[in-house]
Parts: sequence; structure tokens; C-alpha cells
Amino acid sequence: MALFGGKTEVKKGDMFYAWTTDSDIAKKAECGGAVTSLLKYALENKMVDAVLAVKRGADIYDAIPTIITNPKDLGNTAGSLHCGTLLTSKLVKNYFDGAKKQKLGIAVKGCDLMGILELAKRGDINLDNLLMIGVNCGGTVSPVTARKMITEKFGVDPNKVTKEEIDKGQFIIEYEGGHKGIKIDDLEDEGYGRRSNCRRCLYKIPRQADLACGNWGVIGDKAGKATFVEVCSDKGADLMSKAVKAKVVEVSAPEPKGIEIRGKTENAMLKLGQKWRQKDFSAISENLWEVIAEETGRCIKCYTCIEKCPVCFPVADMLKKDSPMIRRGVVPADPMFHLRRFAHISDSCINCGQCEELCPMEIPLALFGNAIREEADRAFAPKLGPSKYSN
Ligand code: FAD
Ligand code: SF4
Ligand code: SF4
Ligand code: SF4
Repeated sequence: MALFGGKTEVKKGDMFYAWTTDSDIAKKAECGGAVTSLLKYALENKMVDAVLAVKRGADIYDAIPTIITNPKDLGNTAGSLHCGTLLTSKLVKNYFDGAKKQKLGIAVKGCDLMGILELAKRGDINLDNLLMIGVNCGGTVSPVTARKMITEKFGVDPNKVTKEEIDKGQFIIEYEGGHKGIKIDDLEDEGYGRRSNCRRCLYKIPRQADLACGNWGVIGDKAGKATFVEVCSDKGADLMSKAVKAKVVEVSAPEPKGIEIRGKTENAMLKLGQKWRQKDFSAISENLWEVIAEETGRCIKCYTCIEKCPVCFPVADMLKKDSPMIRRGVVPADPMFHLRRFAHISDSCINCGQCEELCPMEIPLALFGNAIREEADRAFAPKLGPSKYSN
């Protein structure tokens, strides 16, 4: 059976414009609705036993991870929540037994995917049982920052905002009475915009997933109405092929110009990420340990940074026990608590930002973790050359 233009099979490396044939999903989806429709197809056809995706809660700032077993419920997860700063990888370990006994379909951003790979390396997730639909990611905005930014920069009551999107470098809101967009670069110059770890992120198109989906590169009459899908594995090719044959999604060949634009946008985002790394790391490189000691002096030992970190174990439990180094009931935490934690994550911090996002004392933990990882990478892989960030 021909898929399009005489093409009869899908294989790794193929690229498509894809759009759902389900009108309900199409209404709620971010662009073509391919992600939701493919996950729904996989669940309906028992390719997976459940799906882990994200749905909107009380408002646009509230992203709720949800495990779905009834395909009808998948429609609620369509759409991108740019204030959804959550990380789904550890949820697979904690609430789905690391997919060791059941198969799970999951929508993943780059950081979700990196967290899953780290957990798989540690034997906590079975990759064979995962079907991963990657979504490109330009970044997320903390809900607290988003509310402040919408009030102060957009002059709009954040409670009146009904929709947000990031398009062509702008953060755009729709609210009762109108819509407004401001360039993210301008917002970030003034301390608003994406989380600091997202600015430094170097994983924009998650090609280690089975499919990598996004809106970059969708141009012409399909702009805004189709999802750009890159097939990244045989599992992804199998899903795409079956879903197209079942007419769950329709596909067309991407515009060559669109492929070019997608590549250029990805490169521009990676350069921007490097620029932020340079800026953030050089600001602390001269006295990193003094800065760490000062900032972590506020720590109240709530242990959230350990609980949420996808790589901070097996020492996690040990760090919470009473010991001369930790001293239960004593705050602030002994500096050794942090140094030990940083030593443990130094070779594997994925810069997901969970520790920093959730720290009640607003300690820039991801910045430290990311900077230490950068140094460790260079120490253990001399061919990378000396750190660009230290003077
Ligand atoms: P839909 O069918 O609408 O499905 C969207 C899926 O994304 C759902 O499964 C939902 O659970 C999941 N999801 C929603 N919010 C989150 C979240 N915060 N974390 C994890 N999963 C989530 N594409 C680009 O090409 N360039 C970008 O810069 C870009 N930035 C993005 C930033 C974020 C935070 C997100 C979530 C997505 C981003 N995307 C980006 C991807 C794009 O917005 C669409 O998700 C993608 O094109 C698929 O479209 P769709 O209509 O097929 O998805
Ligand atoms: Fe997206 Fe990267 Fe931020 Fe994760 S760390 S939300 S992948 S920009
Ligand atoms: Fe993510 Fe922080 Fe753990 Fe690094 S240390 S992986 S940024 S939670
Ligand atoms: Fe300390 Fe913050 Fe970690 Fe809590 S999340 S233990 S306050 S550094």
C-alpha cells in the first residue's frame, strides 16, 4: 500500500508532515495532533499497556502527568504546556515499576529522555518496554515566572490567560480581550522567559526517542496544521507505518525548504544554548566553591533535590540518614551534604532543572550541577580540551 508519493514502507531516518484524522484531537492538539493520535493508536492496538502523558490542570500553569489506560482519555493530553516544568523520567521508575513488567508509551522532551536513559543505565527502567514519542523542546517557563512576566511585561492578569504558545521566537498569550506576543530574547534580557537550565539546554530534537516530533520545519499550507515527524528507530518506523495504514494519521513529504529551516533553527538554538552556558558558567567559574558554599548556606534539608533528581542515587538514602556529615535536625545542611551530592551527580547531571525548580530556598542547584558536569566531562575526556568557561 502506498503511503505517499509511491512510498510503501517507513524506515529510520524518514521525515514526514503528519496530521491526525481525529477531529477532536485536531482541535486540542498543538499542531498536527500526530503525537496524541500515535499514542492513542499504540494503546488501542495493545502495542503498549498504558501511556504516560501530560494534561492541563486548573489553568495553563498547571501541568499534570497522567497514566492513561483508556484510549478515550488521551484526547485530554493533546497540546503543549510550556509552563509544564515537570520531568517524567522518574515517574516511570516510581509509579510504573520502571516499565519492567508492562509496556508504556510516553511523550518525552529532551530532558525526560535523558533522565530515562540515565535510569535505564542504572537498571531502573527497561527501555525495551518503552515506546518514546519525543517532542522538540525550545524550553519551559516556570509557572511563577510566567505569572510575574504576564503581569509585569504583558500588563495582563495571568488568571485571564486562556492559552499560551511559543512561536517564531515569541511567547504569545491569548486572554479575555485579546492576544499579545513578546520576543523571548527581550524577555530574557530582562530576567524573564525560560528557566535558566532550559536556556543552557543542548538537546532540542530528541532523536534518541523512537520518533522526534515538532513544529519546526512545517511551512506552506501545512504550517500550524501538521507535525514534523522524524523517524528515529525501527520501533518508531513500525508505529508510523501501522498508523498511516490504519488512517489514524495522514502524511505528506516535508518541503525541502522546511527541512532546511528545521536544521537551521536547531543549530541556532544550540548556539544560543552554548552562549548561555558561556555566560552562566563564566559568572561563577572563578569562585565556584565559594558561591556554592554561600548559596547552599540557606538549605533547610527538605531533600526535594534528591527526591526529584533522576541521577542522584544510590547515595540518596544515605544522604538523608543521621551521620556526622549530615546531622539530622540541624540546619543549614553541612557543606559536605552538598559536596557529596554534587560529587555524585558530577558525571551524569542532565541539566533538567528539577532540583533548582523545586528547591524551596531558591538555590541555583542546576547551575552548579551543570557547571560541575561540564568540568567533569572535560577532566575525563581530555580530547574535549580545557573548559571554555573557566578563565
Ligand atoms: P499533540 O498531539 O498536541 O501532543 C502533545 C504531547 O505533548 C502530549 O502527549 C502531551 O502530553 C505532551 N506534553 C505537553 N506538554 C508537555 C510538557 N510540558 N512536558 C512533557 N510533555 C508534554 N517543537 C518545536 O518544533 N520547537 C520548539 O521549540 C518546541 N518547544 C516545545 C516546548 C515544550 C515545553 C513542549 C511540550 C513542546 C515543544 N515543541 C516544540 C513540540 C510541539 O509543541 C508539539 O508538541 C509537537 O509539534 C507535537 O505536536 P502535536 O500536535 O503532534 O502534539
Ligand atoms: Fe526542554 Fe531542555 Fe528545558 Fe528539558 S531542559 S524542558 S528539554 S529546554
Ligand atoms: Fe536534574 Fe538537578 Fe539532578 Fe542535574 S542535579 S540531573 S539538574 S535534578
Ligand atoms: Fe536544601 Fe534546596 Fe535541596 Fe531542599 S531542595 S535539600 S532546601 S538544597
